[in-house]
Amino acid sequence: MSAIEYIVGLSGLVASALFIYGLKDMSSPTTAVRGIVAAGWGMVCVVAVCFLEIFNVSEEARPHLPVNIGLAVLALLLGGWWAGRKGRTVAMTAMPQMVALFNAMGGGAAAAVAAVAFLKHESSVPLPLGVTALGGLIGCMSFSGSIIAWAKLDGRMNKPLRFSGQQAFNALVFAATLLLAGLTVCSQLEPAPVYGPFAVLFFIGALAFGICMTVPIGGADMPVVISLYNAFTGLAVGLDGYVMSNPALMVAGMIVGSAGTLLTVLMAKAMNRSLSNVLFSNFGATSTQAKGPEGEMKSVGPDDAATSMRYASSVIIIPGYGLAVAQAQQKLYEFVKQLQAAGVDVKFAIHPVAGRMPGHMNVLLAEAGVPYDMIYDMEDINDSFASTDVALIIGANDVVNPSARTDKTSPIYGMPILNADQARQVYVIKRGQGTGYSGVENPLFFLKNTAMVYGDAQAVLSKMVETLKGLGSN
Ligand code: NDP
Repeated sequence: MSAIEYIVGLSGLVASALFIYGLKDMSSPTTAVRGIVAAGWGMVCVVAVCFLEIFNVSEEARPHLPVNIGLAVLALLLGGWWAGRKGRTVAMTAMPQMVALFNAMGGGAAAAVAAVAFLKHESSVPLPLGVTALGGLIGCMSFSGSIIAWAKLDGRMNKPLRFSGQQAFNALVFAATLLLAGLTVCSQLEPAPVYGPFAVLFFIGALAFGICMTVPIGGADMPVVISLYNAFTGLAVGLDGYVMSNPALMVAGMIVGSAGTLLTVLMAKAMNRSLSNVLFSNFGATSTQAKGPEGEMKSVGPDDAATSMRYASSVIIIPGYGLAVAQAQQKLYEFVKQLQAAGVDVKFAIHPVAGRMPGHMNVLLAEAGVPYDMIYDMEDINDSFASTDVALIIGANDVVNPSARTDKTSPIYGMPILNADQARQVYVIKRGQGTGYSGVENPLFFLKNTAMVYGDAQAVLSKMVETLKGLGSN
């Protein structure tokens, strides 16, 4: 074993350990930053070591070295600059789109590696060729599918594209792509390898299948789809790692693949939906609710709501997507500090799918400086609502919809929800009578103990803060 091979192997081991350590730390908000930094150093380590391959190139490849190194450095600079800039400036509500784009990059890179392996005819044995084809297929699907997911989340493609016989058509495209994959592999086998035509058609087919699979899915289901493509990208990268005998790539791919799969399952479970239901039906579009809830919604002004909370002994706050839209987390924490100063016991209740991606609310609250020990997961706080004076819901809707518990005809029936309706008094801050992400009405808003506080969350919370300032500490 040469010294370079030894360093490359060792760097793979170090990077893998850093990835695993980083992932473990990312599971808690208190250690998440440290985890991200550790995983980042793992990535720096493997990327840097790639350049040692310079000393391993064959004589005939040596003249291409300056151009290839130049291209690699240019790609690193461009990618690093763009990702760094986006990471710093992206709004929390636009995070799912950015994840979709990064995912597309990962899938595209995995597919490109597979394409190069075919073009260079790096193997003449069926197994690595088959693995290369599988990596190419999954990478292309993740690339084109994630681009469509990004366009939908970014509001550039507003309507799901559906036509009759679509699933049969998609199955046909998939079957044709698999056939082309088989032909690509066979055409590269010795003794008479052919490079090109089948491989090109195969990659076009795989890209087309990613598009076909994603266009019928509604924008509302895109976060789950992105997480699924994330798992696919990991798998494709892991397969590439096998083909290139690169342990770091294999481990990184497996970590991303398994983390993406777990996340997809977790999100589907938190919405009480199966993955096939996400992929092949349209959430909320075909609501079977016979009629809306009965009764009337009462509304109160921000001053009344704030005053009542000021004199309550306990308040549980439920943040939702609307809080992120309004960017009202700082104002909210200002209000919370005022309540605490007046002796009110305040807690935050977080539903696992509140917002538009897992952890959305935790990140938002952390950004405002809310201490972690005030933030409770659903299963830890749900029993406390019945003994709480006030539940304050801010821009949340589906995650507090009691019909998920009681109405078998509701599309969200079975989804675990926060028991806000059990509090003595419920206040709901939202702009109007719009439904939530699932498109269904929320009977909670019509209950006797519920009062709506209409308005943008930022504006309402600002008024509440002013009201409490006026009341002073008496
Ligand atoms: P919802 O989308 O159900 O409700 C958000 C509410 O916020 C709306 O009713 C809207 O009402 C209100 N709102 C919007 N803008 C503002 C604003 N500026 N000020 C005040 N209110 C505002 O959000 P939830 O967080 O309750 O639920 C999340 C949903 O997303 C669930 O259905 C979940 O299944 C789904 N989902 C979540 C994923 C995740 O991982 N987190 C992944 C996939 C799906 P109005 O227009 O009247 O103001």
